[in-house]
Amino acid sequence: MSYDDQNIFAKILRGEIPCDKVYEDEFSLAFRDINPQTPVHVLVIPKGRYVSLDDFTVKADREEIAGFFSAVGTVARELGVDESGYRVLANHGRDAHQEVPHFHVHIFAGRSMRGMVPKAPTE
Ligand code: 5GP
Repeated sequence: MSYDDQNIFAKILRGEIPCDKVYEDEFSLAFRDINPQTPVHVLVIPKGRYVSLDDFTVKADREEIAGFFSAVGTVARELGVDESGYRVLANHGRDAHQEVPHFHVHIFAGRSMRGMVPKAPTE
């Protein structure tokens, strides 16, 4: 899948659409999810043009990958959720229902989260 420069996170990175920014550095931008699933729900995205986690880990250089994942930990600490706990999630592809085709990780926090993934539908 090739990168779509018109995806919503590309527009946020270019400043064409506003976001509630919580962190930014050389490699990464973090902002609050527009439709939060937990009291704290922040998205961390790399500044480079990567479709998904798969694309990122194939194409990004080591410095970019290290910088990005380091930023995820920094964001969690700056949000003050490192003591209470948080969950990090990245969706890739059809089965995970990734909606926005720019790699991002979700940081969920602020309440207890029991259960790793939703149960399979019974029908
Ligand atoms: P995915 O399913 O791709 O892992 O998650 C995409 C996330 O992006 C969703 O949680 C959705 O609420 C969030 N999102 C979609 N559009 C926007 C937007 O314009 N701004 C922000 N801040 N979040 C968005």
